[in-house]
Amino acid sequence: MNLLAVENLQARHGLLQAVRGVSFALHKGETLALVGANGAGKTTLLRTIAGAHPASGGRVRLNGTDIDDRPAHQRAAMGIALVPEGRKLFSRMTVEENLLLARAAGRPGRWTVDAVMQAFPNLQKRRRHLTAHLSGGEQQATAIGRALMTNPDVLLLDEVSLGLSPLVVDQVYAQLESLMASGTTILLVEQDLRRALRVADRVMCMLEGSIVLEGAARDLTREQVTEAYFGLGRATVAGIPA
Ligand code: ATP
Repeated sequence: MNLLAVENLQARHGLLQAVRGVSFALHKGETLALVGANGAGKTTLLRTIAGAHPASGGRVRLNGTDIDDRPAHQRAAMGIALVPEGRKLFSRMTVEENLLLARAAGRPGRWTVDAVMQAFPNLQKRRRHLTAHLSGGEQQATAIGRALMTNPDVLLLDEVSLGLSPLVVDQVYAQLESLMASGTTILLVEQDLRRALRVADRVMCMLEGSIVLEGAARDLTREQVTEAYFGLGRATVAGIPA
């Protein structure tokens, strides 16, 4: 059974339809990268799955259970965690306080403050510092750790690279890759196509609210993804002729 199943999902911002009939499934332990130009609808899609933005149609199922009528906090308690674009930490609280707050929103499991410190060793010395005083990389690690503290079945990551230097992005990804290796199921938005193809099992490209390309990362070339990204080709599912 799929861990997460999204069927014909729609979402709007007023008159603008930002997500237009998106369907895909996410399997347990899989990493799926979502790419697409600015404004393609990636953030809205992730927020709608997490319940932070209302769907205007379609269905989302988690572990076979329909969660369409569940608010965000119930989805978090059921196993969906979102690391939002721009991190959105509580800046006047310490790293540890941010993590503990998330624990209350989630469910019991292997992720504790100490487990997060082990996964992100750069946070250990910052544990009792206000998050406002952290570097961008440390803030991102705290945001990912905060999501993990809910002991999610699926982690939704929205542009973890945003605003970070290339060196720090490499460090954050090194930590993410060990999460992937440990079997965490991840849907991540990534602007860097080369990185998306390297880290993900599958890649999906979004254009103007729709999925226009989807396939196993090993079957896709950077050129194919770039074409879909800019809307230069016809809609294609890798392996199936358009
Ligand atoms: P980016 O990479 O820039 O974050 P994205 O692919 O995540 O882009 P969204 O942020 O989901 O795309 O935006 C999808 C569309 O919805 C865009 O046309 C955007 O202008 C519009 N949009 C997003 N948020 C709002 C909002 N709060 N109010 C009105 N329109 C919005």
